[in-house]
Amino acid sequence: MNLNGKSNEYDVIIIGGGITGAGTARDCSLRGMRVLLLERFDFAAGATGRNHGLLHSGARYAVTDKESASECIKENMILRKIARHCVEENNGLFISLPEDDINFQSKFVESCHEAGIDAQIIDPAEARRIEPSVNPNLIGAVKVPDGSVDPFRLTLANIIDAKAHGAQILVYHEVTALIKEQGRVIGVAVWDHKKKESTNYYAPLTINAGGIWGHNIAKMAGIEVGMYPAKGSLLIFGHRVNNVVLNRCRKPADADILVPGDTICLIGTTSSHVGFDEVDDMRVTSEEVDLLLREGEKLAPALATTRILRAYAGVRPLVAADNDPTGRNISRGIVLLDHETRDGVPGFATITGGKLMTYRLMAEKATDLACAKLGIDKPCTTMNEPLPGSRNEEPESTDKKHATSPIRRSTIGRHGDLAARISTDNEVDNSLVCECEDVSVGEVKYALKELDVHNMEDLRHRTRVGMGTCQGELCACRAAGLLSEAHNCAHQAKADLARFLNERWKGMYPVAWGEALREGEYTQWVYKGLCGMNKMEEK
Ligand SMILES: Cc1cc2nc3c(=O)[nH]c(=O)nc-3n(C[C@H](O)[C@H](O)[C@H](O)COP(=O)(O)OP(=O)(O)OC[C@H]3O[C@@H](n4cnc5c(N)ncnc54)[C@H](O)[C@@H]3O)c2cc1C
Repeated sequence: MNLNGKSNEYDVIIIGGGITGAGTARDCSLRGMRVLLLERFDFAAGATGRNHGLLHSGARYAVTDKESASECIKENMILRKIARHCVEENNGLFISLPEDDINFQSKFVESCHEAGIDAQIIDPAEARRIEPSVNPNLIGAVKVPDGSVDPFRLTLANIIDAKAHGAQILVYHEVTALIKEQGRVIGVAVWDHKKKESTNYYAPLTINAGGIWGHNIAKMAGIEVGMYPAKGSLLIFGHRVNNVVLNRCRKPADADILVPGDTICLIGTTSSHVGFDEVDDMRVTSEEVDLLLREGEKLAPALATTRILRAYAGVRPLVAADNDPTGRNISRGIVLLDHETRDGVPGFATITGGKLMTYRLMAEKATDLACAKLGIDKPCTTMNEPLPGSRNEEPESTDKKHATSPIRRSTIGRHGDLAARISTDNEVDNSLVCECEDVSVGEVKYALKELDVHNMEDLRHRTRVGMGTCQGELCACRAAGLLSEAHNCAHQAKADLARFLNERWKGMYPVAWGEALREGEYTQWVYKGLCGMNKMEEK
């Protein structure tokens, strides 16, 4: 890489390829900066790929945190406009059950209105009509503009646009040290996990968007950011039980949100403090599974008889207030730290806290700071500028040949107007790799060629291969075949397939009873008995 004659030099380096880093890379590059983004694994490998995917209306925070609530509703409306292909506008219900205090409802609605959220009390019978899966014993309901948002799609759309505006994006590149000169951060030392080599990159400003790992990144500069790792566990069910987001109308508590998304729905979340030594290996406990099921069934009783696909957990990047040595005064709001003014370390800033759905605002704040530091006078445009995939009319209106094909409709759902780049020219490209999610060979080829796919897990995030009911049982070997062809290495693809299946099993293990266990046993039989994967392990 060579910019203005100097190699490895940028205006801004961003650490972390979650939604915050991706959004910041987009905004900085739109404002004309030379950007480098570094991610140690794949995009969305942290909290961004391990959350509810709830496009909050802000109602959840209306009573307890008015600032977050009004940020949410503003960003909710912006994302519906700029990220159409990442959002499902399915609305939400906050229901009261006989065990809840119905008086909370009026305070809730009043607080929503104060925050600018359109919240309407509706009759329980009307709520049952809108969402037939809702607990029929509900005694109250409030309709709000909640929705669902696909975190992988949203992150990728930001990355695609950042690249289109000249950003350099390096995945599987881990920042191992911050380079300092006379007390100023002037660059980063980076380990390339693929090539197994180290390189230094330089910029007048480095932005730490490392989520909960931002704590360790700040330490590299000798700075303490009082982060508070809060684990949340979730369960994914095998189909969409509900089409409207279901919440409990009470102060935020465990397992009180049921979110539909694509072909599934998910219940969450728990919340518990964990140590920094645990954040790289989150395990869902059986107590958490019991709690999620117990509370989830109160929202939608059908969950009791619905197959659970898997369990997973993420860690929220929450920050303790600077003036609170106990670390208990936790903010769920956006935290932008200019380490020059806060800690006397120029050239370094941290952007964290917030939520998936307030990422754009977080990116705007971080980029405003970068502009101020670098003397750039360009306003933010991301609130009006649609993301790639949501810019043009979707191809189905012009693509008569495939307009009625369910495979094509799924592809358009995932990629928006970028689906026009996916080949439908021949029988092979139109054939299916993944039946559960309707992923075609053409879509996999597109992802392999254009979307930074290095392995099966990356492919899953880009296309949903292996995310559906069979959890990779039928599609994983086909996808591995295409990966082997693209990378011209059968051995690597096989090893990758084994890793992918083990990763899937990790999520199934906490819920391995009944149908999930049967499915797990069957997968083992297919891959050991038919594909000989166990023989490969022995070699
Ligand atoms: C259980 C749970 C449920 C949630 N539900 C919702 C929800 O429904 N709606 C919502 O809006 N928000 C939700 N959130 C919050 C949301 O997920 C997070 O606020 C958001 O994803 C944080 O994004 P981020 O980019 O700041 O951090 P992350 O996504 O964690 O990204 C940080 C990235 O930095 C990378 N990194 C770390 N160290 C290094 C290094 N040394 N070098 C290079 N890269 C590095 C990591 O690999 C990671 O990819 C939820 C969070 C959790 C945990």
